[in-house]
Amino acid sequence: MARYTGAVCRLCRREGQKLFLKGSRCYGEKCAISKREYAPGQHGQSKKKLSGYGQQLREKQKAKRFYGVLESQFAHYFELANKKSGVTGENLLQILESRLDNVVYRLGFALSRAEARQLVVHGHFQINGKKVNIPSYLVKEGEVISLKEGSRSLPKIKAILEQTEGKAIPKWLDLDTNTMQAKVVALAQRDDIDLDIEEHLIVELYSK
Ligand code: SF4
Repeated sequence: MARYTGAVCRLCRREGQKLFLKGSRCYGEKCAISKREYAPGQHGQSKKKLSGYGQQLREKQKAKRFYGVLESQFAHYFELANKKSGVTGENLLQILESRLDNVVYRLGFALSRAEARQLVVHGHFQINGKKVNIPSYLVKEGEVISLKEGSRSLPKIKAILEQTEGKAIPKWLDLDTNTMQAKVVALAQRDDIDLDIEEHLIVELYSK
């Protein structure tokens, strides 16, 4: 399935929560979900009880949209999560959280995951000193992600850094704002992930 190119605020309204898909707008008064807290479309305001399957599907769609991954990628991550020891739902979120585009966003090097993906593709980041331009690259414990020296003075990047200055960085990442380098101290645990989701429902959906 192709990447969604429509109005992203509709996705938040569909899931009934902020998915932070639009950068600085998500934090201001113009956020669409703050103004219209109901699903988009003709029947958006009608109260319809979801079936068990419907709830499972919504949780999967929410996670997929939050991280901006395609259906096939998401299914692949579920397979990886299922093979790992531990709780499958938590493994799944940890894998999604380890994507390089998500890490770039978490570090405040981009205003949204979509922007992070674009910056990664354009080659602005290195891992352990080597250029990595694959947004789906999964970071590992001990790796160092850095914003390339030549990229730091670009007007676009400078503007982003000004806007994200003071942003709370998750504790599993250790950012040095002088060198613009961050070490993966440990992979993200469930309580590090600020996504309001019932991941066990996704596991139930894929286990059918
Ligand atoms: Fe979602 Fe951001 Fe649009 Fe608000 S502004 S509805 S958080 S994408």
